[in-house]
Amino acid sequence: MTVRIFYQDAMAQSVEANVIATGIDEKGHYAVLDRSCFYPEGGGQPADKGVIGKTQVTDVQTVDGEIRHYTTSALAQGEYSAAIDWERRFDHMQQHTGQHLLSAVFEDGFGMATKSFHLGTDRVSIDLDVPSISAEQLKQVEQQANQLIASHIPIETEWVTQEQASGLSLRKKPAVEGEIRLVKIADTDINACGGTHLTNTAQLGVIKIVRVEKAKSATRVYFLCGNRALNHFNLLQSVADQLIRSFNVPAAELPEAAAALLSDRQDKEKKLKKLTLQLLESEAESLRPEGDALIRDFSGRPIKEVQRLAKLTAENHGLLYLLFIVQEHSQLRFICAKGKNSGGNMKQVLEKLIEGSGGNVGGTEDLAQGSAPVGRNPEMYTAAFQNLIKEIT
Ligand SMILES: [Zn+2]
Repeated sequence: MTVRIFYQDAMAQSVEANVIATGIDEKGHYAVLDRSCFYPEGGGQPADKGVIGKTQVTDVQTVDGEIRHYTTSALAQGEYSAAIDWERRFDHMQQHTGQHLLSAVFEDGFGMATKSFHLGTDRVSIDLDVPSISAEQLKQVEQQANQLIASHIPIETEWVTQEQASGLSLRKKPAVEGEIRLVKIADTDINACGGTHLTNTAQLGVIKIVRVEKAKSATRVYFLCGNRALNHFNLLQSVADQLIRSFNVPAAELPEAAAALLSDRQDKEKKLKKLTLQLLESEAESLRPEGDALIRDFSGRPIKEVQRLAKLTAENHGLLYLLFIVQEHSQLRFICAKGKNSGGNMKQVLEKLIEGSGGNVGGTEDLAQGSAPVGRNPEMYTAAFQNLIKEIT
């Protein structure tokens, strides 16, 4: 049985330990130590990483009551210095302790109970059992939580029996059998918890609520504590600095400058759309059929634009059968349309045109579209189309 140093002293970063057993399971090589400061994943807190001797520990899990330290290679039994990745662990303790504080303030001050807690590499969140939270409430919670940090409150742990625990008003019911580990933040919080925590609220530095979103019937609150909050501030500052340089305005005027840019872009897009249509209308008027047929290759132009041109051209003529072809990568795209007084079914014409090519056809009897793999000589399509419209007329 491993002595859980992380319970006796959450601030222990390394320990001299004996590898008392080794093995291999579906997760890989593992070692069992006589004493360990490596926290195994549990209660929403991720596992510690670190080294045993010079061998990397990539994961720590409790399997059948045994703490398995998964290592990158097999370890021989013997004594080692086992050290955790302290930066990672301290970050977990900051986020986890911050969650205790935030949950306490939400519940005691606003009657909002925490349903779940998620501590990930990038995001930390709690789900509260309320459909919504106002901006004013969030501001107050953040202020109160930060006041508790500034109040330098000791955080203590203690083991009690089930009987002793039943006489205490714990924030949530213990989820374990046997002895229960209590985590106490003076008068602010008393909770049953098996995770690792800071020893004083001051070590949290700061709590910042960053985002709120709906999560089914609950409300998810994303927050950052300590170094994560500082890193996030640095990221925002770097983004703001880049935007300030690009827009050449002070930070406070950035939203206005961005809104003006977007509005200007929308105006330009509208104008561009109008001008493009005018150009296409002129081009449609300039296209002259030979007899009733108008066949053109528009490869290199966007298919949507050619579709529009086909529609506009067909509208300009009473008697007309047009075939526009566009090569796009390994596909030939076809647009087949007829004038307003022309007979026949363009969808059927196009189906016959590409019959046997492995292509497909859609659209209506007035304007059909299709595609076929590049392979046949495009001139074959031209000749075939002319023959097909002869059959109609
Ligand atoms: Zn906890």
